[in-house]
Amino acid sequence: MAYAYRSHPWRSCPEAEGRALRHPVLIAGGGPVGLTTALELAAYGIPSVVFEDGDRVSEGSRGLCWAKRSLEILDRHGVAKRLIDKGYTWNTGRLFHGEQEIYHFVLQEQGSHKFPAFVNVQQYYAEEFLVEAVERQPLIDLRWRSKVVDVRPGPDGVVLEVETPHGRYSAEGDWLVAADGTRSAARRALGLDFQGDTYEDCFLIADVKVHASLPKADRRFWFHPSFHAGDTALCHKQADDQWRVDFQLGPEVDREAEKAPEKVIARVRKMLGDHPVSVEWASIYTFQGRRLERFRHGRVLFAGDSAHQVSPFGARGGNSGIQDAENLAWKLAFVIQGKALEDLLDSYDVERGQAAAENIRLTGRSTRFLTPKSPAERIFRDAVLHLAEKHLFARGLVNSGRLSVPTVHEGSPLNTETDFEGGVLPGEPCPNLLMEHGYLLDRLPRDFVGLAFGPAPDLPFPVIAMPMQAASAFAAAPGTFYLLRPDQHVVARWQDPDLKEILAAHARALGG
Ligand SMILES: Cc1cc2nc3c(=O)[nH]c(=O)nc-3n(C[C@H](O)[C@H](O)[C@H](O)COP(=O)(O)OP(=O)(O)OC[C@H]3O[C@@H](n4cnc5c(N)ncnc54)[C@H](O)[C@@H]3O)c2cc1C
Repeated sequence: MAYAYRSHPWRSCPEAEGRALRHPVLIAGGGPVGLTTALELAAYGIPSVVFEDGDRVSEGSRGLCWAKRSLEILDRHGVAKRLIDKGYTWNTGRLFHGEQEIYHFVLQEQGSHKFPAFVNVQQYYAEEFLVEAVERQPLIDLRWRSKVVDVRPGPDGVVLEVETPHGRYSAEGDWLVAADGTRSAARRALGLDFQGDTYEDCFLIADVKVHASLPKADRRFWFHPSFHAGDTALCHKQADDQWRVDFQLGPEVDREAEKAPEKVIARVRKMLGDHPVSVEWASIYTFQGRRLERFRHGRVLFAGDSAHQVSPFGARGGNSGIQDAENLAWKLAFVIQGKALEDLLDSYDVERGQAAAENIRLTGRSTRFLTPKSPAERIFRDAVLHLAEKHLFARGLVNSGRLSVPTVHEGSPLNTETDFEGGVLPGEPCPNLLMEHGYLLDRLPRDFVGLAFGPAPDLPFPVIAMPMQAASAFAAAPGTFYLLRPDQHVVARWQDPDLKEILAAHARALGG
């Protein structure tokens, strides 16, 4: 592979030398979600230990399309710029039926945005940049080649059994974040199972280098492409001048034969032209839409793929996991610091459970459109594709993946509803407006914060005086006040609040 993997050695730690310690937070898994959780916790001053089974970052591109909200979250750790500098940014997707372009969609119009709708960077780069950020952070102890083999939860904490090349040790913590992926050892240890659907169709997914100067390209998705006998194909440009190609193969395939480089190369040349091609990575996947019923089990909190798994059509797996990390970290930090009661953590389960349900529903619909399960579904799908060539109404029914956007935590127990029309809804992340002194999100502290369009009462958290030029995005008039949580989501807004109303909403957003 062109990517130069760095091998991270096992290093001794106090527990391996027989010294018992008690850590505030243990994190199982050093993938994108575990690493982001550790960085987010550290930003609130909470130390953590991350146990990672492997000695290197992820194999193959896997999570490739990183969405705007992930970039906003990772920007707080200096990682977003690394992703943008390395990756390939895009805002437009094109859909083809056979050779004919049915339509294209633009995810974000030109404007003063800090981030694009998406940047394509192979997951190993995303993890590499996260590891670099972790290494700069003294509050995080990242332990490579440290496999969690057992989890013993108790009423006040959790004990992990950790296997290393130099034997086993126990690690104690007040809380465990289980971010150990789809085959989670934590899930197994707690006797928990995923519930949901498994799809039968196999997809060939490969990273390839085409040795020719191909034009810049948007996301391209084909139904019934002339170059491939299967139902669909997808192609994305990614970092290092590589292409990520996905070919739908059908339910029964010879996995080893399909991954053979000569077979992959033949497919790619039909898709991208008769140029020399080299294969960096190839894998065969089937997809699932499954989740744990609950993400909080006492002192154990599940995040990312250990809590939910979706098919990649929509780029919702890694992006939603990063939002899990952001949602969980401030709540855990506030509970540990005694600023909130433990009940606040139940809202993590409610809010991110709602996000997982939405992601599973939307990716499930996309997967069923791409891989119709019955003759009737296939007739419907093909009719939609034919109609979409000429009729606008049918284009909305074509589903090649509804791309990741942040979940609006509508109806969250932390929100306070008021009589307010338009603007940014409770449960929605704050828009990153360009203001006189830079982008709004760059000014938000790791705390509750008020946005005041006019004079504000004296409050126990910071308040930013907003210019009236920013009023339209917030449907604001003089006197309007928005209350944001530490994870930049709106929890309440008023046209003209008094002190008591704001304090009550603040108390509610702290969980009670
Ligand atoms: C083909 C494909 C394409 C995808 N495309 C996208 C995309 O474009 N955008 C997107 O957002 N997502 C995408 N995803 C999903 C994305 O890759 C995952 O959602 C993401 O990796 C989840 O991160 P995670 O940290 O929860 O889990 P993982 O990335 O699986 O990380 C878990 C980590 O835990 C470690 N671990 C496992 N068991 C243990 C143990 N017992 N002890 C210690 N450590 C352990 C593993 O070594 C690993 O490092 C794609 C996935 C696939 C397969």
